[in-house]
Amino acid sequence: MFSIVGKAQTPSILYLNRNHGEDIELELLPVRRREIWASGRGGVYAVIEQALAHFGSRYENDPRVLATGPASMYTDFGAIASAPIRKGELTHVDTWAGRGGFGSKMLQQHGLIGIIYGGTHVDEDFRDRKVADEWFQDKYSKKLAAKDIETTTKYRYDPAFNTGGTFGVNFATINERIIAFNYKSLYMTREERLSLHKNFIVDHYLKQFNEETIETKQQKNCGEPCAAVCKKMHGKYKKDYEPYQTMGPLCGIFDQRAAELINHHADMLGFDAISVGGVLSWLMECLAEGLLTPEELGVEALPVFEVAGFDVVHDSMHNARIGMALLDQMTTEGGRINLIQGARKYARHLAREKGKGVLDKFVYVPFARRGWVVPNQYWTPGVLSPMAIMGKYYMNYGKDFYSPRELGRENARRMIKELMMDNLGFAASTAPGPKR
Ligand code: SF4
Repeated sequence: MFSIVGKAQTPSILYLNRNHGEDIELELLPVRRREIWASGRGGVYAVIEQALAHFGSRYENDPRVLATGPASMYTDFGAIASAPIRKGELTHVDTWAGRGGFGSKMLQQHGLIGIIYGGTHVDEDFRDRKVADEWFQDKYSKKLAAKDIETTTKYRYDPAFNTGGTFGVNFATINERIIAFNYKSLYMTREERLSLHKNFIVDHYLKQFNEETIETKQQKNCGEPCAAVCKKMHGKYKKDYEPYQTMGPLCGIFDQRAAELINHHADMLGFDAISVGGVLSWLMECLAEGLLTPEELGVEALPVFEVAGFDVVHDSMHNARIGMALLDQMTTEGGRINLIQGARKYARHLAREKGKGVLDKFVYVPFARRGWVVPNQYWTPGVLSPMAIMGKYYMNYGKDFYSPRELGRENARRMIKELMMDNLGFAASTAPGPKR
């Protein structure tokens, strides 16, 4: 653990290396951020590549890099990305500190575009598997690895639903609770929602995922030696439920090719993918309803935002391309969409010029005067209830109905349990406890 105070004078990469012994080598490398973001694989990936190219040879073991992208410079919800490095090569299995704008904070308040860290230090106590095996033998009559494999089955393949992972299981079971077209699906009848789920998700979006990712076992870990292998891949694309929901059905995208393009573009730019998906779907509905014009947002077409007559492959790609153009407007100097103070402030500003209808279409959870976050993608009051920290799973998001007071209690119970897991440094997926 470490804490950063102060700010680098110019945007820099911070180098940390604990190389044999207690002392940590530290260096700041000033960089030209726009040039880096435009190089190699672009955005956050280019930051990792550049940090590796400059400092990689100084590490005996593969280091890790925390990286920010243009979203951290132009908005208040830039994320921090990191992907495992194997034998000096950057992999495609990107992992994220996505919620809450940590990337924006790191870049805007501390002047750091990236941090490379690693070293040779190993805490021997925690590497002795015999001790852990004894505990597990005692409690479960199984060794740690065997219990681990058993507990994490659903993250690889869940025979009950013929799919795997949160993406697979959620999309297989969401049924009439499908959220699509910037939440417009909430106003459809139950039959209409079931039909949308069957035709667009089960028979196409989920089917592609099952065939391309689950059946071919394209599953990786985040860099930890973990049996859950929760990272679901299709070639260079990594798939999670929430981003592929917000920059999927919520944006009128129901085809994996289209979703891969827009999600990868948002990832490269370094966005909190859930929040940016919610902002995109909001702007797209405003375009479709005529509340905003394409010229005002710097795009060239109107999205297809109706179920009737929707072509799952063609219209999904059409919507994804509009979404990508909107992302570019958010992350270029003088772009039409100014999110430096956050989407809530931007929405208020738009509403003053274009009328309150624009603001009404934006779904977010507020926090104090400026705070905002797009809710996690479950149709349940928990994701909208006010908690001390929003946007994470510090609340009850099950299907059962609770009165507000009881929901508050449930949320608090859940938050305490989640905080314990976070504080211990466990991956919530592998820790015993609620579904994740
Ligand atoms: S479950 Fe956690 S530790 Fe395991 S691969 Fe996924 S993120 Fe990594």
